[in-house]
Amino acid sequence: MSTTAQQETGLIAATAQHVAEADAAIATLHGPTQGIAVHDPASGQLIAHVPDSTPEQAVAAARRADAAGTSWAEQSPRHRAQVLHNWYALLIEHGERIAKLISREMGKPLAEARGEVKYGTDFVRWYAEEAVRPGGNFQPAPDGGADILTRRAPIGLAVLITPWNFPLAMATRKIAPALAAGCPVLIKPATATPLTTYYAVQLAIEAGVPEDLVQVVSTSDSAAFSTAVLSDPRVRKVSFTGSTPVGRTLLELASKNVLRSSMELGGNAPLLVFDDADFERAIEGTIAAKLRNGGQSCIGANRIYVQSGIADEFAAELARRFARIQVGAGLGEGTELGALIDSRAVAQMQGFTDDALEKGAQLLAGGHGYPGAGHFYAPTVLDHVDPAAQVSGQEIFGPIAAIRRFNTEDEVLGWANDTEFGLAGYVFSQDLDRALNVADRLQTGIVGINQGVPSNAAAPFGGVKQSGLGREGASEGLEEYQSIRFYNISRRTTH
Ligand code: NAD
Repeated sequence: MSTTAQQETGLIAATAQHVAEADAAIATLHGPTQGIAVHDPASGQLIAHVPDSTPEQAVAAARRADAAGTSWAEQSPRHRAQVLHNWYALLIEHGERIAKLISREMGKPLAEARGEVKYGTDFVRWYAEEAVRPGGNFQPAPDGGADILTRRAPIGLAVLITPWNFPLAMATRKIAPALAAGCPVLIKPATATPLTTYYAVQLAIEAGVPEDLVQVVSTSDSAAFSTAVLSDPRVRKVSFTGSTPVGRTLLELASKNVLRSSMELGGNAPLLVFDDADFERAIEGTIAAKLRNGGQSCIGANRIYVQSGIADEFAAELARRFARIQVGAGLGEGTELGALIDSRAVAQMQGFTDDALEKGAQLLAGGHGYPGAGHFYAPTVLDHVDPAAQVSGQEIFGPIAAIRRFNTEDEVLGWANDTEFGLAGYVFSQDLDRALNVADRLQTGIVGINQGVPSNAAAPFGGVKQSGLGREGASEGLEEYQSIRFYNISRRTTH
């Protein structure tokens, strides 16, 4: 963005030095001069190309990964752990570059990209630690005639498909447990943000991951990719993070060869603020749960329900804070809200706002985009949102806070659970009994209690209902890449 455009719109422009450092990271990838074009969402500028692989090339990559998998599975857990520790160290060493790269290709503010580097590398460290604890069990059969020994083996070739919103963390959350368990990997990053995955995997190889073991395949035809790759008999596992409709398609394809499937799908998180909440914590938690990643997060607060006793004050304060937020290029100094991923997302935000206003909502902040080539939308607060408004039923995936008032616990729980999604929910209350009882009754896999950012590498992230299958992070995340087998050892009873 030019300085004049910045002055006209109030948007913060990118810092040339940060852009140069991000581009230096991109240059190390030696990408092709044509293929899939990657653009900076803050400026629309073309920043790189990555290969546009055919389905045949993807299957060939799957074969290479699988061939490298046998010796990896035979390595000791300690060896695999050490390689992951080495990878973690390299990611940390390159952390500042990676943060700038994330910001450049995805648009999030540099401070948040640094946060993603911490979150994303935490998975590598966690699974370096978990690799030496593959688990297993031993128990005598109840009739005494046998000993039952349970082992956990690597499941085999894992196909990993990731979205654009957390280019590092979504990749490491899958690659690290797969490698820790002893599996080879084929990863397909989103076309909008493939560069961070290529960069992170380059470092994995430098860290000692065998060259063919982790294959990155970018393609503009993801449907052809998944049809070809998921029907290859070598593939034993598919792990997907993305929207629920694509997840359903992948589950259908996975059914052909009965693949183990992990699905981290869409959300429509309810956020409940009770009259007895700590007001400041509730405001800060709501801002974090709503605006983290520009609202482009599967656990982002989608429906904000505030109890009537504090609703006026809460809505007014949220609007005041939203209006002060600095919008601009992720690589600009002081940017708090970056660009959305593309122009479609901006048009969708405007459509959501217009629809909510038509259905009686009140606009308290924002409600507009910005002129120019970047994909920006102002932090927006809508109050008195009707349940029939699109923002109440659909995943917003942008910086719009949609508020509705409630009176009783039962009423708000009825609204909160009235959705096919069940990924995350939030409760703000100073009453411990109430907070825990409400959390128990929310039909979600994740609950943030008096806080807006519940994710942690040590926590089993995942949803219920149509938000997904399986868990990522924690020890449960390792089990997603293991198959359980048992040996029945016959015992001759001597008594
Ligand atoms: P998306 O479903 O459009 O795409 C996700 C990935 O799937 C991309 O790599 C895309 O290229 C690929 N893809 C699309 N069609 C495919 C097909 N037929 N076969 C194989 N791959 C295919 O989602 P998105 O817009 O990139 O991401 C946003 C969505 O992801 C939101 O719904 C969000 O809630 C969800 N999400 C979920 C989590 C979670 O952990 N539950 C985390 C982040 C994002």
